[in-house]
Amino acid sequence: MTGAGNVDPAEIAKFDASAARWWDPDGDFRPLHDLNPARLDYIEARVGLAGQRVLDAGCGGGILAEGMARRGARVTAIDLSPAALEVARLHALEGGVMVDYRQVAVEDLADDEGGAYDLVTCLEMLEHVPDPARIVKGLAQLVRPGGQVVCSTINRNPKAFAFAIVGAEYLLRLLPAGTHQYARLIRPSELARWARDAGLELANLAGLAYDPLTRKARVTNDTSVNYLAHFQRPATAAAG
Ligand code: SAH
Repeated sequence: MTGAGNVDPAEIAKFDASAARWWDPDGDFRPLHDLNPARLDYIEARVGLAGQRVLDAGCGGGILAEGMARRGARVTAIDLSPAALEVARLHALEGGVMVDYRQVAVEDLADDEGGAYDLVTCLEMLEHVPDPARIVKGLAQLVRPGGQVVCSTINRNPKAFAFAIVGAEYLLRLLPAGTHQYARLIRPSELARWARDAGLELANLAGLAYDPLTRKARVTNDTSVNYLAHFQRPATAAAG
């Protein structure tokens, strides 16, 4: 499998352009900073992080990747935005955190390092690619039999449109306008189907609720806007 073609250059250009603001907690990526503690807790509670060999796909400036490394995981993190990766490397260096950042497509790494990871994470990235099902297939190949995959994205329905696009981008200006395109948002049923087709089993779906006033996020049962999905690769059957 190759990653060629499964990347939207306009998306990468957007993330390249705002890369310098990645670690500004009040800047373009503020929601990711605010969501980070809750999603880290979710991953740690469901899968565990200490000592795990982890791949973070679509890592951007490394907000999640660094957080997992600080909790004891051995993290490799990949993205296709060179500027975001540069920021990520510098930030990790300054903070004394070990993360192996690489510029490589998910599908290409899957060809080289199939089954190499205990845990594969792919958060807030699938809604930016032309063919997310292919990415999910790559994630399923990268995780070892018996390993875990955690994804997060935004649901596609009128409420998600109101909250995640109109509210977050235009009313509250938590994110730059144009960050998310409605047609690219993903229903949990779609994500679950792609994962099933890739040989993964759904272990848990959870909502991620965000309060812009307190800037706090928490894991809930309401998957109508932001949500997390935890999948398992069966110990015996091969993925894909
Ligand atoms: N996962 C991080 C960053 C999310 S922002 C977090 O949650 O904190 C989305 C990231 O996906 C950006 O860094 C962007 O460059 C990356 N991305 C978009 N398309 C991609 C692709 N086809 N392959 C790899 N990364 C991609």
